[in-house]
Amino acid sequence: MFRSHNFSAGPAILPAEVLEKAKSELLDYKNTGSSIMELSHRGPEYIEVDALARERLTKLLGLGDEFEILFLQGGASTQFLMVPYNFLYDGAEAAYLNTGTWSKKAIKEAKLFGNIEVPFSSEDSNFSRVPAAGDYEIKGNPAYLHFTSNNTIFGTQFPVEPESGGIPLVCDASSDFLSRPLDMKRYGILYAGAQKNAGPAGLTVVIVRKDMLEKAKSDAIPSMMSYKTQAGTMFNTPPTFAVYLFGLVLEWLESNGGLQAMAKQNEEKAAKLYTEIDSDDFYRGTAEQASRSLMNVTFRLPDENLEKEFVAKAADLHLNGLKGHRSVGGIRASIYNACLPESVDTLIDFMREFRRMKG
Ligand SMILES: *Cc1c(COP(=O)(O)O)cnc(C)c1O
Repeated sequence: MFRSHNFSAGPAILPAEVLEKAKSELLDYKNTGSSIMELSHRGPEYIEVDALARERLTKLLGLGDEFEILFLQGGASTQFLMVPYNFLYDGAEAAYLNTGTWSKKAIKEAKLFGNIEVPFSSEDSNFSRVPAAGDYEIKGNPAYLHFTSNNTIFGTQFPVEPESGGIPLVCDASSDFLSRPLDMKRYGILYAGAQKNAGPAGLTVVIVRKDMLEKAKSDAIPSMMSYKTQAGTMFNTPPTFAVYLFGLVLEWLESNGGLQAMAKQNEEKAAKLYTEIDSDDFYRGTAEQASRSLMNVTFRLPDENLEKEFVAKAADLHLNGLKGHRSVGGIRASIYNACLPESVDTLIDFMREFRRMKG
């Protein structure tokens, strides 16, 4: 079977085992004679799929009873508005760390609902870094501190959760969700579009701590926008096939040693790639060292023509999805959980060969 070396930023590579299993069950799910896509979301088969996905996610992240898991739609972009809609009322404020395009979009939406404080921004260095402890001070009395754990476009990542002085964290974890263990007790809300590191497009996973959920707006808010409505029983039809695939990804994570093992493998893959980038000045990383992402590795070549040629020649070898985002330029290798170490090795071999020819 032909599988490319897929470095797409998202929708992104899924484990081949997951796709194989989905394929084997696609037309006849567990002797029902129907695809899971064709079954009622209130029927026993889907109820089991849903429950098992919740159970697996709870175990992998070590979530206690204090969290609710929501399977929503609308992408992380809908969470940009849903978070402030639910928590910024009666004069409440929020703080946002501005570390890239997605943070900026979250801030823009939040400003429609309340007073927003931005204690840190790396915009003046084209978002080449995330803050370290002590780089910012939260002045007001925000209901939450929002951050983007991994900046998909700029190739930066918080190595650990940011300082918040006890203020609950709200995190857009779209592009590093399930790539490593998390200190969940610090989070009020964590949300992620599944299509980067956790499943197909169409599912947004939202994890809400119950004491935060209690403070969510309960009147004068449209039902679909309300966390209180969305928590618990299914308010409307969830993206059933996407949840099913997400469940298969969780099963795959479990059988591959869980988040600890995944974190180790992700560190190894990224370290190899950054070592190659740093080995001379032909390739040049765009993110500051201490802020480098283990998920999206961004780098430049000496000029744009070489970058175009790099992307084209790589594609000839089935090394796909390497073109950087236009706001950074250059190359972006997205090396999510499902990206095999062999694909990273193949990319490194290609980088060496390209430098030998053109450097
Ligand atoms: C891709 C991405 C988004 C946007 O997600 P949608 O599902 O398209 O709304 C938001 N935040 C981050 C960090 C992303 O990587």
